[in-house]
Amino acid sequence: MPTVIVTGANRGLGLEFAKQYAAAGWRVIATCRDPAGAGALTGIDGVEVAALDVGDLDAVAAFGARYGAEAIDLFVNNAGTYGGDRAAQAFGSTDAGAWLDTFRINTIAPMKLAEALAGGLEKAKGKIAILTSKVGSVADNTSGGATLYRTSKAAVNMVGKNLAIELAPRGIAVVLLHPGWVKTDMGGPNALITTEDSVSGMRRVIDGVSVHTSGRFYDYSGKEIPW
Ligand code: NDP
Repeated sequence: MPTVIVTGANRGLGLEFAKQYAAAGWRVIATCRDPAGAGALTGIDGVEVAALDVGDLDAVAAFGARYGAEAIDLFVNNAGTYGGDRAAQAFGSTDAGAWLDTFRINTIAPMKLAEALAGGLEKAKGKIAILTSKVGSVADNTSGGATLYRTSKAAVNMVGKNLAIELAPRGIAVVLLHPGWVKTDMGGPNALITTEDSVSGMRRVIDGVSVHTSGRFYDYSGKEIPW
């Protein structure tokens, strides 16, 4: 039975990843900040819930010590934050403290988790899928704004590219994924697609990735996105 680790699995896209991989017969290690409040994950066959605040880098290291020795077929780095309100992200009033927190969660944690889990991923010749955003594409930026979020996602794209290069000799493939504009707490009610459609699309993209096609940036439909 393949094993997947999903961060931020208590709601939104992370919850849907946990549900779909469990339904497909995978062992799912579903992490969230507050397992006691993660009722949506309770009782799903195949799902083990583990506490992890990805912004707490000591907790990330402890999580790696607990799970990094097991064979891991897939690590879905899903947990993410928008980082702050419009003012916190706007020219003239950027909130530096919130920006540092955003980088810790969206950019540094994916690297530290990959470092912590690489041993287990190597055992299974596994894959890393990083949830980034088209908003992190420099080529796609025509409107400005959202500085905290955009920069954290642009930077995690480089994390993913580096991981692809550095982990290829160990047989680990990496993919950067834009989930589309999805109806979640982050995406809001006007978003265009459901978590079900986004995650089933991203699972197809992940299935198609190998060390030979590692380090690319795709949307949920498999369309490649320019950096
Ligand atoms: P949500 O805001 O709905 O959910 C975010 C998840 O991340 C929650 O489970 C939240 O946990 C978790 N999280 C946030 N901070 C931490 C932390 N420090 N430690 C652990 N977990 C944390 O977002 P989505 O489901 O929409 O987004 C999932 C990913 O997809 C994100 O990386 C996002 O940037 C990306 N994305 C989403 C888009 C969309 O349209 N929805 C578009 C482009 C990218 P908690 O409940 O504890 O806060």
